[in-house]
Amino acid sequence: LASRLPQVGTTIFTVMSTLAAEHGAVNLGQGFPDFGCDPALLDAVDGAMRAGHNQYPPMTGVPALRQAMADKVQALYGRRYHPDTEITVTAGATQAILTAILAVVHPGDEVIVLEPCYDSYVPNIELAGGRVVRVPLVPGSFRPDFDAIAAAITPRTRALIVNTPHNPSGMCWTDAEMRRLDELLAPTDIVLISDEVYEHMVFDGLPHHSAARYPGLAARAFIVSSFGKTYHVTGWKVGTVLAPAPLTAEFRKVHQFNVFTVNTPMQHALAAYMADPAPYRDLPAFYQRKRDLFRQGLAKTRFRLLPGEGTYFQCVDISALAVPERELPEADFCRWLTAEIGVAAIPLSAFYGDGFDQKVVRFCFAKKDETLVAALERLQRL
Ligand code: PMP
Ligand code: GLN
Repeated sequence: LASRLPQVGTTIFTVMSTLAAEHGAVNLGQGFPDFGCDPALLDAVDGAMRAGHNQYPPMTGVPALRQAMADKVQALYGRRYHPDTEITVTAGATQAILTAILAVVHPGDEVIVLEPCYDSYVPNIELAGGRVVRVPLVPGSFRPDFDAIAAAITPRTRALIVNTPHNPSGMCWTDAEMRRLDELLAPTDIVLISDEVYEHMVFDGLPHHSAARYPGLAARAFIVSSFGKTYHVTGWKVGTVLAPAPLTAEFRKVHQFNVFTVNTPMQHALAAYMADPAPYRDLPAFYQRKRDLFRQGLAKTRFRLLPGEGTYFQCVDISALAVPERELPEADFCRWLTAEIGVAAIPLSAFYGDGFDQKVVRFCFAKKDETLVAALERLQRL
């Protein structure tokens, strides 16, 4: 059988979580919280199920959830998306991104990704028959290089994928960078896929510059969000896509034959829960405290901290560690760290097509304080 994805193995997140479980390691690899969500959200699911919300919802998503999303986006980013024609509920951001790509990318079209990038983007483009055009973020700072992006644009460029706050680096695009992107794309018909799943994890008082804030970008964008990240329920797999009506219409053509609908009771529960802005309003402070705890602990080790403005990830350089394993390729180092030191991490090389190895690994700090402390005790030995 000829593989549709010959270069693809099992995702690094699954590989590292499996390895962490085998070795009983503290799992700071795959990004997910090790603490529960608000019990009120669980009660809302229970209530929704008992109220009989257990059959197919509308293909586009439960109306109350699309309405709640429209109200929230208007309040936060100042743009009104019509719940009926411009908002679709998806099975997490993963399905949203694949569906957006399948909806707009024709075989032979070029899609620009900014490396390092989330591991699903490239296989998604390949499944659509698109050609992946990789543009590096500036090494070290992970900021966008607009000259390089401009140079990568051709008449075949169909889409560009931007992720802010950025997994794995934690960097957040500035207002000036979003404006620059707007100017760059203005003379083109390039579709923007704006992956904003970490929109509520931005620290030090920085705002999140959603593409929704910029009329020129919003007019060409699929904006992707994920309730899994925002409400500590990554296993629920519920997200949304905002896009102007013509893009949403194309999106839904694919969506209806992909998942058709997303589970009903969770949508009702999320809609009810969203009435209170406190959970997402308080999220930056909640995660900033964990980031600071983790960074302060790492500052006492030989790991060199990279800056982190957002997300629940912290990248570190391993090249000054006192152990010879610091010379290993990042992926081997992470396997060693998991098996021998008992802390799982993700190699940054997994986010590059050519496996670029810069001796940087990513830790997830969406963990109970005691989990972070246990990991730090082990990391301090290096
Ligand atoms: N995009 C990025 C940048 C992510 O980090 C993740 C979560 N790992 C996703 C998309 C997928 O989100 P979801 O779990 O909602 O499918
Ligand atoms: N997005 C999460 C991460 O980067 C993991 C999601 C997944 O396992 N696919 O760690």
